[in-house]
Amino acid sequence: SADAASAGDPRLEALRWRHEYAGKVRDLYLSDAEPGRALVVASDRVSAFDHVLDPGIPGKGALLTRLSLWWFDRLDVPNHLAGSRGGLDALSTPLPPDLAERAMLVKRLDMFPIEAVVRGYLVGSGWAEYQESQSVCGIRLPAGLSNGDRLPEPIYTPAYKAPHGMHDENITFAQTVELVGEADATALRELSLRVFGEASAIAEQRGVILADTKFEFGRDPSSGEITLADEVLTSDSSRYWDAEAYAAGGENRLDSFDKQIVRNWLAAHWDKHGTPPPLPPEIVERTAARYRELIERLTA
Ligand code: ATP
Ligand code: MG
Repeated sequence: SADAASAGDPRLEALRWRHEYAGKVRDLYLSDAEPGRALVVASDRVSAFDHVLDPGIPGKGALLTRLSLWWFDRLDVPNHLAGSRGGLDALSTPLPPDLAERAMLVKRLDMFPIEAVVRGYLVGSGWAEYQESQSVCGIRLPAGLSNGDRLPEPIYTPAYKAPHGMHDENITFAQTVELVGEADATALRELSLRVFGEASAIAEQRGVILADTKFEFGRDPSSGEITLADEVLTSDSSRYWDAEAYAAGGENRLDSFDKQIVRNWLAAHWDKHGTPPPLPPEIVERTAARYRELIERLTA
């Protein structure tokens, strides 16, 4: 949607970073002085129901960047950071602090056109698909599962990464083989399931359930290695639940850790046509507090 477009930060442009691309939440910059690299800057923008909302959530870009870096550090898989401190140590000219805290300097990879989704629980679009076919992305599941149930084991349910602005589309593993070949398709599935297993064990020790997540991988053009890219295990790319609320079984048990406040408010105040109404300050503040709580629980 048009509201995704945002101008580049003039301070970065003064440092010769050109604004290459604006996602709903993040901006990508390139520089001739940093060949083979890209600067990914997370904003405070928040999106729900495919719309960028107004206003943003103060501190969100910095918090989600911190969370991504914390996970990269813990996961046993090659990642796209160009150096230490979010890759920024590899920069010759440092960034202003308020940009540095939400920026990552990454190796530019040849990205696979696949969103590597892993689900440990049956919920959302997985639950919808299961009700129709008792399967998700071609994976047959046991009968009698309910919304939010833990799966017997995590499943890999890839999606085709549609060009900008289009809806991603769930595909079968066989379709990923057609897209990237047998060897890479198999490697992507194995890496995704392994990293998901590592991450959900870490989250669980902290009373947080990692219900599902989306990874993106690319190939490092210099080493040829399959490399974990993008943001990783943030609350924008993952569904986190509070383990205690889940176990208690109330109606909030499947509320995602952070954005649910925004989603619930919007569902009650907007008919999903046209532009969403501005979020009231109280909703913004409660959402910001929820982001802070998630990162404190995980990284404490
Ligand atoms: P949306 O707004 O729906 O999220 P998007 O995924 O295209 O759209 P962003 O997530 O904001 O937008 O942008 C990040 C983009 O950068 C993605 O297209 C992602 O695949 C790409 N990307 C992430 N890491 C790398 C990397 N190391 N090299 C090259 N491209 C990357
Ligand atoms: Mg994205």
